[in-house]
Amino acid sequence: MEKLVERIKEQGNVLDEGVLKVDAFLTHQVDPHLMKEIGNTFADVFKDKGITKVVTIEASGIAPALYTAEALAVPMIFARKAKSLTMNEELLTASVYSFTKQVTSQVSISKKFLSKEDTVLIIDDFLANGQAAKGLIELCQQAGATVVGIGIVIEKSFQSGRALLEDMAIPVVSLARIASLSDGEAAFLEGDA
Ligand code: 5GP
Repeated sequence: MEKLVERIKEQGNVLDEGVLKVDAFLTHQVDPHLMKEIGNTFADVFKDKGITKVVTIEASGIAPALYTAEALAVPMIFARKAKSLTMNEELLTASVYSFTKQVTSQVSISKKFLSKEDTVLIIDDFLANGQAAKGLIELCQQAGATVVGIGIVIEKSFQSGRALLEDMAIPVVSLARIASLSDGEAAFLEGDA
C-alpha cells in the first residue's frame, strides 16, 4: 500500500534493535483516514472468506482492526493484556512474549465472543517474530474457531514472524514489508496489497 509506505518514510523513526516508531499515525496518534484505507484494503483482500469476526490485540491493533471490521460489517474483538475486574466470565487465555516490552503476558478474550461457528481474520499493527499473532491464533483455536487469514499493517520481514505463520498454513497479507532498518532507514519490499 503505497500511501502507507510514503507515511512510514515521512514520519517513521528507526530506533535501536530493529524497532520502528510510527506513533505519529498508528501506535499513539492515529490517522483515521489512513486507518480507513487500511481497513478497506484488508476487507477487499479477505471479503470472500466468510469472515464473521475480526480479532486483534490491544492497544495498537485496535484502530486498523476496527476499520477492517466496519468494512466487512462484522464485530471486532480485541484480546486484553491485563485482566479487568469486569471480565468475570470464562476466558480463553494464551501467553504472549512482547518483542517491544520484552515481557511475557497473559492475553485473554471472553469465551462468549468466539465459538466454533466463527471464521476469523486476525489483524495487527506489526509483525516481528509472530508471537502476538500466534497467541491470537491459540485463543481462536481454544474456541474452535477457524482462522482464515492474518492482516498486518507493517511487517518487518527480517524477523521470523512470517515464516512462523506460513508454517501454520495461514495466509499472511502485509501492507508494508520492511527488508531492513539499517543506518536509521527503512528499506522496503513490495507489499502484499
Ligand atoms: P511479534 O509478536 O510479531 O514479535 O511482535 C508484534 C507486536 O510487537 C506488535 O503487536 C507490536 O505491538 C509490537 N512490535 C513489534 N515490532 C515493533 C516495531 O518495530 N515497532 C512498534 N511500534 N511495535 C512493534
